[in-house]
Amino acid sequence: MGELALREAWALELCLRRNAKTESVRGWLQYNQLASRLEEYRRKRRFPATPEPAGEKPARPGHRFVLQKHQARHLHYDFRLEIDGVLKSWAVPKGPSLNPADKRLAIETEDHPLDYADFEGVIPEGNYGAGTVMVWDRGSYEVEGEMPATEQYARGELKFQLHGHKLRGGFALVRMRRAAQENAWLLIKHRDAAADRKWKIDRHNDSALTGRSMDEIAAGAPSCRDPAPPSSS
Ligand code: MN
Repeated sequence: MGELALREAWALELCLRRNAKTESVRGWLQYNQLASRLEEYRRKRRFPATPEPAGEKPARPGHRFVLQKHQARHLHYDFRLEIDGVLKSWAVPKGPSLNPADKRLAIETEDHPLDYADFEGVIPEGNYGAGTVMVWDRGSYEVEGEMPATEQYARGELKFQLHGHKLRGGFALVRMRRAAQENAWLLIKHRDAAADRKWKIDRHNDSALTGRSMDEIAAGAPSCRDPAPPSSS
């Protein structure tokens, strides 16, 4: 091997090593960022006293959304959007609406792990959020406009299209700037073909995952779907 070839080979080797190091540092940073972002989620829960996922299994990234009906001390709906490797989460006391005239208060809560999107079941008494959880709706979403979801979220105004079983079409989530609570947002349906002024949430009572009612989930009844749909979406 000539001197030049040798030098080139060595330069390539150095380059590969540097990239490998960068990759592993990046991986480590991502892991740690994710771990710290789920810190609050984990701090509030004791595993395995609760059947909720600990968020340790890596989940395939995508554009999930889920709405979980949660009969805790107060009935509410948890709206979650996959952004940057976690499920950004909002508790919506009255639930979403397809009526553009309904502006639903949505209180931002802690980030949840991606696999939480498949969680349906009962959180036992004595645990954080004890009560029945239903996967009320789920599917994928896409942001509207050029700005990525992370940036729209940071600016406090997210616009997106939902492709769910019950919820479809355009929605906006807007942070309330002058609210007493700093984590208060509004969830609003856009006026589009999917809007429905007569829509009522209490006419939609079955799980999008298993077809079960809240009572059936609480009683541990088997899925109404046979076989159960695949857990990833
Ligand atoms: Mn909840």
